[in-house]
Amino acid sequence: MSNSSSPALVYRFGNGVYINLTNRCPNLCAFCIKTKWHMDFHGNNLNLEGWEPSAGEVIAALEKELKKAPFTQVVFCGYGEPTMRLEVLLFVAQTLKGWRAQAKYPPFTIRLNTNGLGNRINHKDIVPLLARVIDEVNVSLNAPDETSWQRLVRPIHEFQDGYEDVREFIRACVQAGFQKVVASCVDKTGVDPEAVRHIAEEDGAVFYLRSFLDAQE
Ligand code: SF4
Repeated sequence: MSNSSSPALVYRFGNGVYINLTNRCPNLCAFCIKTKWHMDFHGNNLNLEGWEPSAGEVIAALEKELKKAPFTQVVFCGYGEPTMRLEVLLFVAQTLKGWRAQAKYPPFTIRLNTNGLGNRINHKDIVPLLARVIDEVNVSLNAPDETSWQRLVRPIHEFQDGYEDVREFIRACVQAGFQKVVASCVDKTGVDPEAVRHIAEEDGAVFYLRSFLDAQE
């Protein structure tokens, strides 16, 4: 499936409005649908082709989209790792929080879908910053140990030892008191989902088994 339309900064899926901040990611997951689905997501072209939207451009796209139809969540996700654009992410989330406080739209949650490497990417502890503006965090855990994690998410050299960082990020999010912290595992990748569940729950997160085809972040 290919899509030649202009890139979507925001797009709909289920009850959510999703934000596509970047196509950059330090991983190259074996199950990532951005390559499998040729940067298309249910008719939305998520290929930014190296361009990345400013906070103002994302906010303008959101204002246009949010009034079109009901939604219950706004999710930082897309075909890339949102924490690669931390400043834009925080600004847009703060704006969403402001709109919510003003009851500009019916109640909604603000969620981040992430690979859990945000602290490493930004060379600092970003969890307290996220906790001010994000309600829920979904972290792709995917593996019960570093070797399987490396095999599955295929991080670039600099992030080869990132598995423990992902687990630390999950624990820090749990400590920070987000409304919900989910650690997910993609099904049918060769790892035992129950072993991943054990790790997720040991770190205090809610485990979620994501179907292989729906895998997005
Ligand atoms: S699934 Fe997520 S973490 Fe993995 S390569 Fe794709 S965007 Fe990156």
